[in-house]
Amino acid sequence: MTEHSETMIAQTERYSAHNYKPLPVVIAEGAGCWVTDVDGKRYLDMLSAYSALNQGHRHPRIIGAMKQQLERVTLTSRAFYNDQMGGLCEDLVALTGLDRVLPMNSGAEGVETALKAARKWGYEVKKVAANQAEIIVFSGNFHGRTISIVSFSTEPQNQAGFGPLTPGFRVVPFGDITALEAAITANTVGVLIEPIQGEGGVIMPPEGFLRDVRALCTKHRVLMINDEIQVGLGRTGRMFCYEHEDAKPDLLILGKALGGGLYPVSAVIGIEEVMAVFRPGDHGSTFGGNPLACAVARESLRVLKDERLAERAAEMGVYFRQRLVAMNSPHVEEVRGKGLLIGVQIKKSAGLAKPYCYAMMKEGILAKDTHEQVIRFAPPLVITQEELDWACERIERILCGAALHK
Ligand SMILES: *Cc1c(COP(=O)(O)O)cnc(C)c1O
Repeated sequence: MTEHSETMIAQTERYSAHNYKPLPVVIAEGAGCWVTDVDGKRYLDMLSAYSALNQGHRHPRIIGAMKQQLERVTLTSRAFYNDQMGGLCEDLVALTGLDRVLPMNSGAEGVETALKAARKWGYEVKKVAANQAEIIVFSGNFHGRTISIVSFSTEPQNQAGFGPLTPGFRVVPFGDITALEAAITANTVGVLIEPIQGEGGVIMPPEGFLRDVRALCTKHRVLMINDEIQVGLGRTGRMFCYEHEDAKPDLLILGKALGGGLYPVSAVIGIEEVMAVFRPGDHGSTFGGNPLACAVARESLRVLKDERLAERAAEMGVYFRQRLVAMNSPHVEEVRGKGLLIGVQIKKSAGLAKPYCYAMMKEGILAKDTHEQVIRFAPPLVITQEELDWACERIERILCGAALHK
């Protein structure tokens, strides 16, 4: 770290709230899979802003679409129509086979929107008694940071100091279909699920779990609500993670890469019966569905399709995982994941994942630990085999070197 970056870090720490603990790298530029810090040192970005950069940094086509829209109109509010939103909604309907779209901005807002939709559907369509609706979630979940969302987190830190919490949620163990069925009551309106838990440490449910959840939801007339904010849009080797098991949800939440790494865009896409519960005034957002967001999102989706990024994620993911396994590191407990969402679990005896991330940063690779023992690798889906080889050479040096206890 040089004086320049130290000054910027000190400034940030002095004037910002300390709700994050970043690695000490100050990024000034980015392109494709690479970022450059304020001192001109290059790093391979293997976090991709938690999968918001699936198309890579500053994709020229998405930049172009944004520039074009900047020259036309950027914000209308939903008090008026704009000439971009209809197109985005039609594109998302075509892509998913679902019926209607409600655009928002952040992922957490998308989740909140889906929860509101499920509750209202429960009262209006399923005829659950007033204020009795229950939504089932899974242990280890991560769906965002609003008060209602942290109300069903199982991570104590997410809730501590933020009460009173929102009622109406039930938690069952992730991957436990028996527990899920036992938790369903006449008041259950939805099951909110991450097909793979990203923040939870790249935790995959047992084979067939999604399909079983889908079947249970259908059987008990409960909405299956997929949070694919992190695992959707190509990350796991299919456009949507539910496609691996043909478990099409009733509500699908997208965010992150929907904005192509340029602009926050999220959306809930759902079946008619549920989306129809929203009437004018029920829900909204000043920036949700703005023309700049919609133009960016449309191009972000086109890039995913045209560059076959889901297929690339599948191919490169298999290659990367094989390379990681072949390293045979004495410090690694397990390598797991799907597509280009990969978790490397560090053995407890080899220390925490964090010092390994620090060591990688020094070697020019940016990745972040999650849940103490896991290094998450989620590079942009545009990454090439040569770039993965470059990374693996360095990752191997670190994972096969001395254990890093501090
Ligand atoms: C990132 C994330 C969210 C929250 O998205 P924000 O844009 O940070 O609000 C919700 N669910 C999952 C699975 C995520 O990865």
